Order: sequence, then structure tokens, then C-alpha cells
Amino acid sequence: MAINPKLLAGLASLVLLPAAGATLTPPKLRLPADVHPSRYRVDLRLNPGEDRFSGSVEIDLAVTQQTSVIWLHAKALQFVSVKLTSKDGEQAAIAQPAADDFIGITFDHVLATGNATLHLAYSGEISRNLTDGIFQQQQGGDWYVFTKFEPVTARRAFPCFDEPSFKVPWQLTLHVPEKLKAYSNTPVEEEHEEGNAGKVVRFQQTRPLPSYLVAFAVGPFDVVTTKPVGQNQVPSRIIVPRGRQSEAEYAASVTPDLIALLERYYGTPYPYQKLDQVVVPLTTAWGAMENAGLIAYGDFLLAPRKEDTELRQRGRANTMLHEMSHQWFGDLVTTSWWNDIWLNEAFASWIAAKLLDEAHPDWKIRTEQASRIGVLQLDSLTTARKIRQPIETPADIGNAFDGITYAKGSAVIGMFENYVTAPVFQQAIRLYLSQHAWGNARAEDLLLALDSVAGPGVGAAFSTFLNQGGFPLIHVKLDCGKPAPELQLSQERFLPAGSEGSTDAVWQVPICLTWQDAGGEHSQCKILAKAQDSVPLAGAKGCPAWVFSDRNAAGYYATTYDAKLFDDVASVGLPKLKAAERAAFLRGIELNFSMGKGDAATSLAAAQHFSHDPERVIVDQTVDIVASADRLVEPEIRPNYARFVRALYAVRAHELGWKPRPEEAEETRLSRFAIVPFVATEGEDAVLQSEAAELADAWLKDRGSLDEDIAGEVLAAAAVQGSKSYFDALVQAAKTTKVKPERDDIIDGLASFRDPAIEKSALQLFFESGIDARELTPILFGSNQKTRDAVWDFVRQNFDRLNTELPSARGIPFGSRLPLVTAGYCDDQHHDQVAAFFQDRIGSLPGLKRNLDNTLERIRLCTARAAALKPGLIEFLKRQPAE
Ligand SMILES: [Zn+2]
Repeated sequence: MAINPKLLAGLASLVLLPAAGATLTPPKLRLPADVHPSRYRVDLRLNPGEDRFSGSVEIDLAVTQQTSVIWLHAKALQFVSVKLTSKDGEQAAIAQPAADDFIGITFDHVLATGNATLHLAYSGEISRNLTDGIFQQQQGGDWYVFTKFEPVTARRAFPCFDEPSFKVPWQLTLHVPEKLKAYSNTPVEEEHEEGNAGKVVRFQQTRPLPSYLVAFAVGPFDVVTTKPVGQNQVPSRIIVPRGRQSEAEYAASVTPDLIALLERYYGTPYPYQKLDQVVVPLTTAWGAMENAGLIAYGDFLLAPRKEDTELRQRGRANTMLHEMSHQWFGDLVTTSWWNDIWLNEAFASWIAAKLLDEAHPDWKIRTEQASRIGVLQLDSLTTARKIRQPIETPADIGNAFDGITYAKGSAVIGMFENYVTAPVFQQAIRLYLSQHAWGNARAEDLLLALDSVAGPGVGAAFSTFLNQGGFPLIHVKLDCGKPAPELQLSQERFLPAGSEGSTDAVWQVPICLTWQDAGGEHSQCKILAKAQDSVPLAGAKGCPAWVFSDRNAAGYYATTYDAKLFDDVASVGLPKLKAAERAAFLRGIELNFSMGKGDAATSLAAAQHFSHDPERVIVDQTVDIVASADRLVEPEIRPNYARFVRALYAVRAHELGWKPRPEEAEETRLSRFAIVPFVATEGEDAVLQSEAAELADAWLKDRGSLDEDIAGEVLAAAAVQGSKSYFDALVQAAKTTKVKPERDDIIDGLASFRDPAIEKSALQLFFESGIDARELTPILFGSNQKTRDAVWDFVRQNFDRLNTELPSARGIPFGSRLPLVTAGYCDDQHHDQVAAFFQDRIGSLPGLKRNLDNTLERIRLCTARAAALKPGLIEFLKRQPAE
């Protein structure tokens, strides 16, 4: 039936109709609130190997305010027909693309409020280059179609309300060639042939999902069935490219155990009807994706080589647990908007590490975590994001998936868990999940749950770490002059040497202390809420022998002790501390050194002191400290530096050698990976280098000849002095090798030459070499002092081509990442050159500004660091005894 024209005329006076042919003004960032979906029915016709697909979607929706335009997200879709049906009958509409990401569905009248269904028929592209949105890849001659939608690329597969708060049921139907298999979030409801060698696969309707968690995969897959998973014993499969079932053995065997770990923690069963895990041969800028019921992983989920290694299994288990934990944290309860993506990502990173550490203490995950300074370095920059950075432009969404969200967020969660205790924190998580199951939540909701279980004030303290950048530097002074001993604490923002930021910031820092007096070891926790405060040491018997400020190494802060206390902690306290706590202590030294603070001699002497520690992780840290001097070492002092590296590690490196010994402990095997390549390259150890060259040649002929976890390092060490003929051999191998981890190793080798002429040849591989350019990015981003100029010249000469030919990721063009190739520069001249080159491109490349600002700050800080530390470094290295 038709609409009553009188009614229409009345409404039109209230709401402005777009003039015919007028340009629509699309939303700037978010869709308007006047229309929201309640259900989707998606019907797609796709054939892997073909570049186009066609589809239709019906969206049940509610119009809550009168409007004549319905805004949806759509990208690179061509519309064939569009109409709306409602109780008033069928209404014609026009689909008008606006900006890059939107489609305005316009009507020649004003829509009444109420329920309606929008019907859209369209076609789109199945990309061969992107690895998000809807895309396809070839393996073993077969084409496969995959999807990966988070955060903003579902709109390439169907027009939709592509924001996480629109969480509704979806029903997918796929028309595919009869001989292929198709998977989606839910089990198949019905499948039948439809002529022309095609079939229809209709999937069950999903539970409420945001668009970014919808997924499907089509191709000649093979399937490995695992044991049923979880309390509800739901079916579970690993879905692999044809012929690769045997490589999925590890993933299949651990899946039920990992789900059991999560169910025990969450206290609620796995929420979906099945668990499939599908392998995507090539992923760029993502490793895995937590699609509800259909988790996607890169090739690393599989073990293509004869002997799988424990290190690879650890990595796999960690990623699997991360993605599986999202089935609750992210999928069952979904972040309302991208400013809270940390709720998904920080939590998943934290719980994966926590549960694996409890299940496998021998993996030393906590100690490894406590030893890492990467996120602190990042967070010390004034250009770093906050965990809850407001989303002001579409590019801010893609940029939100960074180290701050994942690693800082995870560390802050761990700090508050340590403060309120693990059982209390777990209770808060369970409460939060039960309150928001199948819906959306915001940071405030988690903090409220935490307050209601742990007591008021904890949430407020937590939010001081969410809503401001940086991290506190705590000054600790022990005062035994009073009747009872007390600690004097003060805080400021940690800033690197040369930073233009302000130290003026106050967090509510949950500090947990360990200290020792005549009565033994004690611990206590306190929230330092002011710039300065004092803490009486409860029950102290006399002046403590030492006080350590980071019990369980859970703190997300740095510490400076006053001089006497530092010496006491270092000499008396450290041997009594847990390995993770010692790692955290050493991390403080490394942080200072890498950020241009303290003095070089103290830091390098500390590295020397711990370089033979029984704890492998601590020795690895000392390697990192010494390695971080590398950027400050000028050619004339390089022989002294190499000699220092050899003095610390060469004996151990030669004991270990490049090849594993029979029956050696896993820790011994792991220590090889840090020490041997370092002595070979930075230590310029001629014996290890020539061994690497021989082993690399042998490996190119026989891939079983090396421990697969060190093959990449061997190829890279061989490249340090590598000849053009070695380079050519690697190129040849890259062209013929099919196994993904071996390809990665070869590219590590190609990215490690130090001869600028060879580097130029490596860069030419990006264009027309036949090697997939998406795999070659380590050559751009992994340059060294000797090849940096060649890379920078290449980027400047080929910027437009790189930007168009390499895929965007998370809605951000490849070119926006390119400032990062210059982050290794350490002088004013290059700073200005980089700024000038990219300045003009800021307007046209979303996300570029943040990466440029960040890179320029890093160059400035390195310059300041060099000025502060170089004289002391030179003096220290010259003082080292000759061999
Ligand atoms: Zn994640």
C-alpha cells in the first residue's frame, strides 16, 4: 500500500527533506542515533577466485526519530536496488554513497517512527591484496575466501551499522560452488544444491553480535575435529587449507584444555554453540581474530615442519587463549565504543598470560613480562596514546590497536589484581560478565563491579591509569629517624632525557612493598594518591635491611631509591627476591639507560654484573641493555663495543653454539637465541659469523639442518657480512619456498644485510620480483645503521607506489605507517627532513599524523640521549681491558 500523502506533507514540515540531487552531508564519525538495527539477514553469492561477489541484506530496524535519511556504513559496494518496507507498505529509496565509508539511504518523504525493514541488493569486491574486510588467498593452487572485520571493514562485505554497540542477531546465507565448504559463526541450519554446480548454505541465526564479530570462510578446506569443548561439550574443529590436517595436531590437542581454563576462571560456560578455528595463510597487521564461534588465525597456528618446537607451542597457546578469552570478554560482553577497546584487548592479553603462567610455571611468563620495557618506552613519549584515548577521527579507531591498549592495559590490570588480590579481582570479573552478558559495556561498568567487590575507591584509582598518558616514577626514601620506620614516597611522570613533556601528573598508584627486618620478610600495599606521602612500615622491628617497591613485579611504575636504599636492595635484597622481582629491578636500570637517564657506566656495569645470572631471562635482559647502547656507538668506538660484547658473552656463546645439543634443557635452548646471534653480529665474532654463513648455505639446501627457532637468526647473522651471491640465493629461496615459517626466516635474512648496495637490491624486491610484497615489510621497518639511508631514499622515491600497492590495515593506509622507517635516526638533520617530507601528506592520509609525531619525538629523544650518554659510554668502553 502507498503512504498517505497528507500525513507525509505534515511530517515534511517538521523534518528537512534533502533536495533532489543535493549532496548529502555524511556523519563525521558516528552514525546518528535516530535509527538502529534489530536483526540482519545477509545473503551472499561468492566464488573464490572471482574478484566480485553479489549480495543482498535485509535489516530489521527501528526508526526512533523522524528522518528522511538512513545512514549506514558501506565501503566499495555498488548498489543495485534499495527499498524499505514497513506497516505503511513498500517505499522506494535511493542509495547515495557519501565520503568513503557511508551510504545515505534517502527517501522522498519523512519516515515515521516505528519498525521497518530495509532491503538492499549490491555487489562488492573480494580483495586479493587486503587481509581484512572480505578477501581471498591462494594456497596449493586453490582459492579461499576469508573475512576479518575488526574494527571497521564489515562494511566492505555488507552495508551495516558498523559500530560495536549495535549488537543484534545475524542470519547468514551463502551461495557457493557445490564442491567447496563454507563456515560461519554458527552451525549450518540447512544446505542444499541449487543448480549450476552451486549450493546454498544457510547458517543458524547468531546470538547478538556486533558487525565486527561476524565472519565466514569458503574454500576446499580440510577439517580436524577436536574433542568437544567446555561444560556444554560443544563441537570444535580446526579448519585448515586443503591437505594440512596433520599440522593442526597441537592446536587440536590443547583446545579443550584452554577452554576449560577459561571456564574455571569466568565461572560460566563457553557461550556459543560451536568453536571453529580457521587458518588464514597470510595475515598482515593482525595475527588472529576472535570472531564468535569462528576464530581466525594466521599460518602460525599450524606446525608445517617435521619437528614442532616448544617455543612455537608456547606462542600458539598464548594466542589461542587470548582469542578464546575474547569469546567472553569482547564477544559475550562487547565494548560499547572503540575508546574502550582495552576492555577487550588488555583483558585478553592479561588473562592469557596469567592462566598460562599458572598452568606452566616453567614457561616463566611472569618473569619474562617483568623484564620487558617496550611498553614503558612507548608510554614515556608525550605522543603516546592513553589507554582510553578519545576517538576523534576514524583513524583513531585503527590506531587504538597499539601497545598501549594491549600491553599497558594488561599491565595495569595486573597491578590492580595484585593490589585487591586475585580472588577478589576474579569475583569482580564474574560480576561484570553476569551483569552485561550478551550486551555492551564501558570501562565504568568494570570499575563499578570492581568497587562493589573490592570496596570503594579502587575504580577511581584504576581510572587514573586509563585516562592519562604516561606512568609514574616513584621516589622511595627510607626514614628510620622516627620512632617507627617509614617510607617517604613521591611521584612524578617518568620522562626521558630531552622530553618536552611535563612531569606534573598524579596517579593513584597501588604500591605493594616487600621489606625485611629482624622479624623476617613483610609485605604491605598502599594507594599513593598524592604527589607525596609517607608510609609507616607496619610492625617493623627496627630499621629494615632493605625495602623493595614492587612486590610480585606487578607494578606499572618505575622506581628510584635513594642512594643508600638502592645499594641495600641491590646487595642484600635482590638475592631474596623472586626472579620476576629481580627482572623488574633490572628493568628499571634498562629503562633509564634506554631513555637517556642515569649514566652509561652504571647501566653497563649492572649489565656486566648480571650477565652470568643463573636466571636465563635476567641474562637476556643484560643483552638488551648492552644492545641498546648500539645506537650510540660511532664507528671509531665500535671495535671497543664489540670487544665488550665478547667479553661478557663470547665464552657462553661458544659453549652454546648455533646448534642444539642432545637432551639439553629448554632454558638452555632459549638462552642460545639471545646470546649467540648477539655475539655473532654486535660482538663481530668471526668464528660465529663464518659458522652462520656455512649453516645458512646448508639450510638453504636442507631445511631440516637447523633448529627451526634459530634459522631466521642464522640467516640474518650470515647476512651481516653476506655477499651478493648469498643475497641471490635467499631471493631464489623466497621465490620457491612454500612453507610460511621458512619464508619468514628467509625474509629475516633479506632484511639483515649491512651493505647498502645489497640493501638497495633488497628494496627493489618490492616491485615485480614475484615475491609477495606484503611479506617483505621487515626490509622497510627493520633497517640498521648502515642501511637506514638506503631505505629512507627508497621510501621517498616510491612513496605513492608503496602506499597504493601495499594493503591498508584497520582502515589506515600503508603510507601512514611509513614515517616509522625513519625512527632509528638520531640527529636533527634527519628529524627536519622527515618532518618536511611527510608534512604535506598529513591531510590526505588518515592516521599519518600520529605516526609522524611519534617518530619525530623518538628521533628528538635519541638525539638528546646521545648527548647525555655518549661521553660516558665512550669513556666506559675505552676503559675495558683488551682481550
Ligand atoms: Zn585480542
